[in-house]
Amino acid sequence: MSPLDQHPLPTSQLREWDNAHVWHPFSAMSAYVDECAPIIVGGDGFDLIDSDGLRYLDGISSLWCNVHGHCVPEIDDAVHEQLGKISHSTLLGLSSEVSIRLAKALVDITPQRLTKVFYSDSGATSVEVALKLAYQYHQQKANPEAGRTKFLCVGNAYHGDTLGSVSVGSMDVFHRTYRHLLFPTVTVPSPVATRVADGHTRESWIQHCFDQVTWLFEEHHASTAAFVIEPLVQGAAGILVHPTGYLKHVRELCDRFGVLLIADEVAVGFGRTGTMFACEQEDVQPDLMCIAKGISGGYLPLAATLASDEIYNAFLGAPSAGRTFFHGHTYTGNPLGSAAAIASLRLFESRNVLANAAANAEVLATRLQSLNDHLYVGEVRQKGCMVGIELVQDRDTMLPFSSEIRLGHQVTLMARKAGVIIRPLGDTVVLMPAPAMPQQQISQLCDVTFQAIDDAIQKALRNA
Ligand SMILES: *Cc1c(COP(=O)(O)O)cnc(C)c1O
Repeated sequence: MSPLDQHPLPTSQLREWDNAHVWHPFSAMSAYVDECAPIIVGGDGFDLIDSDGLRYLDGISSLWCNVHGHCVPEIDDAVHEQLGKISHSTLLGLSSEVSIRLAKALVDITPQRLTKVFYSDSGATSVEVALKLAYQYHQQKANPEAGRTKFLCVGNAYHGDTLGSVSVGSMDVFHRTYRHLLFPTVTVPSPVATRVADGHTRESWIQHCFDQVTWLFEEHHASTAAFVIEPLVQGAAGILVHPTGYLKHVRELCDRFGVLLIADEVAVGFGRTGTMFACEQEDVQPDLMCIAKGISGGYLPLAATLASDEIYNAFLGAPSAGRTFFHGHTYTGNPLGSAAAIASLRLFESRNVLANAAANAEVLATRLQSLNDHLYVGEVRQKGCMVGIELVQDRDTMLPFSSEIRLGHQVTLMARKAGVIIRPLGDTVVLMPAPAMPQQQISQLCDVTFQAIDDAIQKALRNA
């Protein structure tokens, strides 16, 4: 059999080649090959369909990016139409109709201060762009401060997997291997009270986190270029929800000390937290904003870094002056991705997706209450359609289960058997339904997940 043959291939053949040749991201491959993961061949609404014809509810929006479901006629048509015109041309020295339209549409819906759109193709690249822009800005602005070279970051942050974005991240499991390759940063504790330092109550710990940011600004501001933050929710850290007022606190400190605010809205943007962008909820205007995942409705790889006039202006001057931003990715502003993004934004309006997301958030909140007294649920965290259910061995001490059990992963396998795809972060079970998912499927997602949690725990306890 040749992989280039046009006829369908049996699952057994696909699985053999998958195990032989595909290196999956963030995957322990020795375990992966034994688990017979579904091989997806199609999508239909909020379902995924595998090579055996089985259907699964997509409970994590295909890793947090899908917005309106799969095979949405309006987005499909927009991409088809663009395919009939051109699939890719470059933004280096040329422009493109759909990229222009999308830039204007993005500027219209993002915080007012943001007027310039620099395209790239993934969340990580959108963060790289923001970091380099912030760094270069201080060297080239009207009163240059070349000493502003550092970045302030939040503990357990995740901003992508390229080395710059890993430098401003601090998830030990993902990042420790590369620490000698990274540039140094200053980290403030994540303002969450899931586990607090000795001698603190939940309240005093949160206050400590607010104070700590203030102190670090006072200490480091003269050498700091920007503060990088996932606004409201730290996704990859386990859906950690920040207390109200934290983002605003950081914005005020940035203003006071001349530090730029980089909002990484890659995960939280496009309706995920209930508003179009998370910054809106605290009425905060970042200087740079990174968007990706949901930007194309979850259809195609596309990202953007939005910047203020003030930043943009620092890069102007005679071409020979060398103030140019020398950065760009080959598929920057890809027309197919841009066409999908425009169609997605149209659907946000015509179907009032934000209202649906709000209704989903309420259904989720109601259903999640049933876990409040669960013996093995340490904490339930939710913001809009983002949910993290942290499973622990002992809820009083927040003692985790042994990592050998891979309990979060076991829950995923149980849910898969019942026709639902989810993916955990350690022992935090994550639900990330698409903002446009109907409420009935939200209920199904909860039913299956809660049962899978009980089944996986029962099994773990039996084997203990
Ligand atoms: C997923 C994510 C990224 C990285 O996006 P990629 O498209 O995977 O590179 C960056 N920041 C946040 C907050 C994310 O959740």
